Amino acid sequence: MARPALPSLSLRTALYVAVICLAILGFEGWREWTAYGAALNRAGLEAQNLAHSLRQHAEDTYEMADTAVSMVAFEAQAIDDDPDELIRADSFIRRMIAGSPRLHSITIIDRNGRRIASTSSEASSGNFGSIKFFQNHRASSSLGTFYGPPIRTSDGALVTTVSRRFNNPDGTFAGVVLATIDSRYFAQVYDVIDVGRRGAINLFDTAGHLLSRSPYQATLIGSNMSGRELFAQELAKSNTGAYQFTSPIDGENRIGGYDKSVSYPLVAVVGLSRDEALATWWEGAILRGLLALALAGTIALLGLRLADQIRRRHRSEAVLEQKESEFRLLAESASDLVERFDREGTRTYISPALERLTGYRPDELIGLNAFDVVHDDDRPTVVAAADRLRSGASEQETVAFRRLHRDGREIWLETSLRVAAETGGGFSVVGVTRDITERKRLEMKLEAMAMRDGLTGLANRRAFDAAIVAELARARRSGAPVSLLMIDADRFKRFNDDNGHLAGDACLKAIASIVALAARRTTDLAARYGGEELALLLPESDAAGARHIANDICRQVQALAIPHQRNLPWKVATVSIGVATIDPRRDDASHDGPWLISAADLALYSAKAQGRNQVVAAPSSTRARLVGVL
Ligand code: GH3
Ligand code: MG
Ligand code: MG
Repeated sequence: MARPALPSLSLRTALYVAVICLAILGFEGWREWTAYGAALNRAGLEAQNLAHSLRQHAEDTYEMADTAVSMVAFEAQAIDDDPDELIRADSFIRRMIAGSPRLHSITIIDRNGRRIASTSSEASSGNFGSIKFFQNHRASSSLGTFYGPPIRTSDGALVTTVSRRFNNPDGTFAGVVLATIDSRYFAQVYDVIDVGRRGAINLFDTAGHLLSRSPYQATLIGSNMSGRELFAQELAKSNTGAYQFTSPIDGENRIGGYDKSVSYPLVAVVGLSRDEALATWWEGAILRGLLALALAGTIALLGLRLADQIRRRHRSEAVLEQKESEFRLLAESASDLVERFDREGTRTYISPALERLTGYRPDELIGLNAFDVVHDDDRPTVVAAADRLRSGASEQETVAFRRLHRDGREIWLETSLRVAAETGGGFSVVGVTRDITERKRLEMKLEAMAMRDGLTGLANRRAFDAAIVAELARARRSGAPVSLLMIDADRFKRFNDDNGHLAGDACLKAIASIVALAARRTTDLAARYGGEELALLLPESDAAGARHIANDICRQVQALAIPHQRNLPWKVATVSIGVATIDPRRDDASHDGPWLISAADLALYSAKAQGRNQVVAAPSSTRARLVGVL
């Protein structure tokens, strides 16, 4: 019988383990996702803070340039073609530039675009008339500062322009003061800031022109990036913030922080490499991920093994149950009694055949010890067989023993015992028992028949030979005397001749029954010694007692009065008897069975010789004296 709940237990275990593994992996995944987001946020914030500082630095620089051009413009108004004033202005801008290392140059340009004074050492006396900032100032009466996109100076530097118009006393256009800031100046400042190996710092004007950059790339300075998402989207939302982008310059994925100035047309952008920002997280994530996988894998492995073991155990339990039910089916339908015993011989199972065999119901004997009911004489054999099974000396034993049926009869049983496979339940022995009472009865009958004479019903010669040896041995132990009567029918040949053999047989049987009756004690044995010669063995009878019995027999045979015409003078059947006795207290060991037989025989011979129908006792002395009688 398979229990329906069992297979699902191993399945449930497997599911449970799977849920645990998924939970571990899920938790680790969620944790990593959170850590990933946090790492990105941290990098964005860091970039944003840095952009904030760099925006302030750029503002300071522009403010310085603004102050410089304002002051120089004020001085330049006084020049008005006066050479002295020009010299003063020239020395003023040189002092100014010396105090402002962030500025690349300061130049004073006249109304026609010609340079009239400059801190720049460049030889060229190029005209500014065509350049945008100059045209702006000439066209506009505004005295405000103009911040232009980067231009290339004649000495090759890429510079940002900060310029202001100055007027004649009548308010007409007199010229422009120009201050330049070298794009490399910002780059040098940015180069010492650690933004990782693949980070970048950019400074833009609000129109989207790249003013400077680290790492520095001269070819990019001045290019217009107003189409990028920073200008198109981010700055429209907020003056400061963080965003992710792919650099159009080097293709790097970056986390950017930007900050836009409110007082100058400046935007500082710090871009950290996304890969570098996530590197630490990645390292940890891989390690933690592997650990989580290993943990989940170990749990899964152990869980699967557990589930497998549960499955196996259930399977073997099912097999055991199957075997057990098959065993019971066989046992219960068997006509033989099937029993199971534990190590101590207690019955743990009894098949229904018990009742037919013994009259007892199985429930009356279950749990009881099997040895107790065995006949005392047979118990040692049964216990020895059980010991051999227990010790492993043998695997199978067959024992025959007697026990009582419920109705009081003694019955013979034969049990085949076999050690059952030890499957979890410990040591057990299975016994199959059948009733052999009939067989035993037959055996005993046959045995008895083998020891008995067919005609007279007395013990035969074989039984007599065995008995005389046993009785003499016993006599020697007890010291009691043993007597033997040898009885021979007188002139029996003639009886046969006169009356026929069948009558002879009947006569012999009649004599035999008288001898049998003379054997009064259970140890007395009447036997047919051979032909018409009978023997009566009388243990614990002395010579006198034996003689007395012999005389009785003689008389009783004669009293039968079986006609025997030629047995004169009596004309009835008679017997002659020789008696011999061994007394162990007197006789030595040479007085054994053969001695007793020959002594009795000699006495019988003597009785015949003295006329028959009489008793002669052998002298109770040595063989020599017997020989003397002869
Ligand atoms: P005695 O002993 O008196 O000297 O004479 P006897 O005639 O008995 O002598 P013996 O011992 O020579 O003869 C024995 C006879 O007994 C021979 C045999 O015919 C007879 N006899 C022996 N056994 C049986 C038997 O089983 N049945 C019958 N009918 N006769 C037997
Ligand atoms: Mg005879
Ligand atoms: Mg004879």
